[in-house]
Amino acid sequence: MRIERDLAQLAQPFDVIVVGGGITGVNVAREAAGRGLRTLVVDKGDFGHGTSSATSKLIHGGIRYLETFEFGVVRESLRERRMLALAAPHLVHQQRFLMPAWRWSTPSTALIGAGVLLYTGLAFDRNRNMPADMRIPLPGWLSREKTLAAVPWLDAHQLQGAFAYHDTFNLHPERLLLAFLQSAVDVGAQAFNHMEAVGFMFDRDPAAGGDVAVQGLQLLDRITGERHEVRGRTVVNAAGPWMDLVLSDLGRSMGVKVNRSKGVHLLTQPVAGQAQVTDTVFARARSGHHVIVSPWQGHSFIGPTDTHVDDAPDAVRADEGDVALILGTLNDTIADGYPKLRVEDIEATTVGIRPLIVDDSKDSYTTSRRHELYDHAPSGVKNLWSIGGGKWTTGRALGVETVKALLASDALRGVPARAFDSRQATAHGAFAWAEDAQPYFDAVVRSRPTVPLDDVTRLHLARLYGTDHERILDLVEREPSLAARISDRPGRLDIAAQVAFAVTDEAACTLSDVLDRRLVIGTLGRVERAEVARVAGVMAPLRGWSAGQAAAAVEAELGRRAAIELRWRGRAGGA
Ligand SMILES: Cc1cc2nc3c(=O)[nH]c(=O)nc-3n(C[C@H](O)[C@H](O)[C@H](O)COP(=O)(O)OP(=O)(O)OC[C@H]3O[C@@H](n4cnc5c(N)ncnc54)[C@H](O)[C@@H]3O)c2cc1C
Repeated sequence: MRIERDLAQLAQPFDVIVVGGGITGVNVAREAAGRGLRTLVVDKGDFGHGTSSATSKLIHGGIRYLETFEFGVVRESLRERRMLALAAPHLVHQQRFLMPAWRWSTPSTALIGAGVLLYTGLAFDRNRNMPADMRIPLPGWLSREKTLAAVPWLDAHQLQGAFAYHDTFNLHPERLLLAFLQSAVDVGAQAFNHMEAVGFMFDRDPAAGGDVAVQGLQLLDRITGERHEVRGRTVVNAAGPWMDLVLSDLGRSMGVKVNRSKGVHLLTQPVAGQAQVTDTVFARARSGHHVIVSPWQGHSFIGPTDTHVDDAPDAVRADEGDVALILGTLNDTIADGYPKLRVEDIEATTVGIRPLIVDDSKDSYTTSRRHELYDHAPSGVKNLWSIGGGKWTTGRALGVETVKALLASDALRGVPARAFDSRQATAHGAFAWAEDAQPYFDAVVRSRPTVPLDDVTRLHLARLYGTDHERILDLVEREPSLAARISDRPGRLDIAAQVAFAVTDEAACTLSDVLDRRLVIGTLGRVERAEVARVAGVMAPLRGWSAGQAAAAVEAELGRRAAIELRWRGRAGGA
C-alpha cells in the first residue's frame, strides 16, 4: 500500500490518533491498526525526521546500561533486538563489536568481561528461530595482537586485548522506520507527514476547570497551510523530545516532563585511513567518555555525545563543542603514528535528542533508558496518553503496551479489536520472516535481466526496499531514463526511480524528505548542487512544482544544509 496524504480521510472519526511519526508513534500506529482500530498518525515534519533518524544505528540491548543496573531495560531490548532482526533481514546485519581493555581501563578489564558475559546471558534466546547468517556467536577474548590486527589504529600502549561480542546493526534506520510505517498503512492506518498537531478538541471548555475529555485534534498542514479538525476517541502523544510541548496546549500541568539529552555523531572517512576495519569499536577513553566507531557505507560513523539540553528540540544543532568532544574522545584511543581525526575529516554530523524520562540521576548519561506510559485521566484530561523515554529498539514493545492500555480504557470500551501478533510479523518489504538475506540478494541479481541496472545498483535497491525494489525496477522498465544515478560520485548509488517512488508511494513532500530519509545520498555528507537539482527535476512534475518553485526549493535546501554544516564546522573547518 502507498503512504498517501489523502486529506479526505481526515473527515472520518478515528479510534486512535497518534501525534509523532518517530519510531515510537509508528509502532503505536502499527499495533493499533493491526488490532483493527481506525488509526491516524501525524508528524509535524517528515516521518522519522526527529531522534529516530539520528541514532547510533544499533538495534541493541545497550551493554553500557548494565553499569547502571538497568537489567530490565537490557533484557527487554535484547528480546526486541531478536524480533527486529527476524522481521527485516534485508535491513539489518549482525555486527562484531570489539571492546578494548587497557591496563588503565575503568571499569576494569575483569568488570568489562563480566558485563559482556552478563549481556550474553540476558540474550539467552538470541538465536531462537535465527537463520544461519544471523546467528550470534558466543563472545570471546581477543589477544592484544589479534585486537591490533583487527583494528590497527588502537592505542597499543598498555592495551591488554579486547572483548568481542555481537549486536545488530540497523543499516538504514530511516528506511526501516518507513518499512514499519508502511506495515501500519498495510493494515489500515492513515499516515500524514508535515501535519502538525496544534491543539486539542475537548468535550467542554477546559478553561472552566474540572475534568475534560479529549475528542480530537486540530491539525495544521505545513505543506498547504490549511487547518483541519479531526475527531478521535483517544490521542497518544508520542512526540518524543517534543512530548511536553504538545501537552503545553492543555493550559494545565500534567506533571510530566522530558529530560532532553543531545546526541551527536560524526560521519568521516575511515578512521586513520584504515578502511579494512570491519568491526565496530566500542572504547572508553581515559576521560571516562565512551565512543563507538562503526564502519558504515565506506565511512566511519562515530559517536555519540550525551549532554543534557534545555533548548527546544527544533533549535538543537550539532555544534563545534560536540565535534570537539567526539574528536577528543576518539583521538585519545588512537595510537601515536596514526593520524588523529580532525574537523576537516568530517563529512557530516547527525543530531538527535533522547526523550529521557526524568529521574534523580545526576546527568543524562546515567539517566534510565526505560519508558513510561502516562494516562492523563488522573490529572483531569481523559482519552489522552503520553509516552516518555524508550529506545528505537524497544519501539515495538512500547507500541504493544500502549495499545493494550488503550483497549482496556473506557474510551475504547466496546470497540471491536482483532488479534495481531507483531512478534512474528515481517516489516513491509521484508522478503520473509526469519530467513537469511543472501539467497534473496543472489536471486535479485539474477532476476529481470532486461531491466537496465547493474548488479551493484540492484543490490543497493534490494537492501533498502526489500521486495518493494521490484516496483522500482518496474518504474525503470517503463521509463529507462529513471535508471540514471543521482550522483556522478563513486559510492553514491541512488537512482532517479527512487525519487519518483519516494513521491508517489512514500509520501515524500520536500527535497529533504527524499535526500535524507528515502534515499541514502543525503546521509553520506555534503550533497552537491547538481545532485539536489537532479532530485528536484524528478520531483517537480510529480509534486506539481513550476520551474521557479523547483529552483527555489533547491536554493532553500542547499541553504538549509549549509547552515547546519556551518554550525558544527565553525571556523576550524573553513567550509
Ligand atoms: C545520538 C543518539 C543515538 C541513539 N542510538 C540508539 C541506538 O543505536 N539504538 C536505539 O535503540 N536507540 C537509540 N537512540 C534512542 C532512540 O533514537 C530514541 O529513543 C527514539 O528514536 C525516540 O523515538 P520517538 O519516536 O520517541 O521520538 P522522535 O523520533 O523524535 O519522534 C517524535 C516525532 O514527534 C513529532 N512531533 C513533535 N511535535 C509534534 C506535533 N505537535 N505534531 C505532530 N508531530 C509532532 C516530531 O516531528 C518527531 O518526528 C539514540 C538516541 C540518540 C539521540
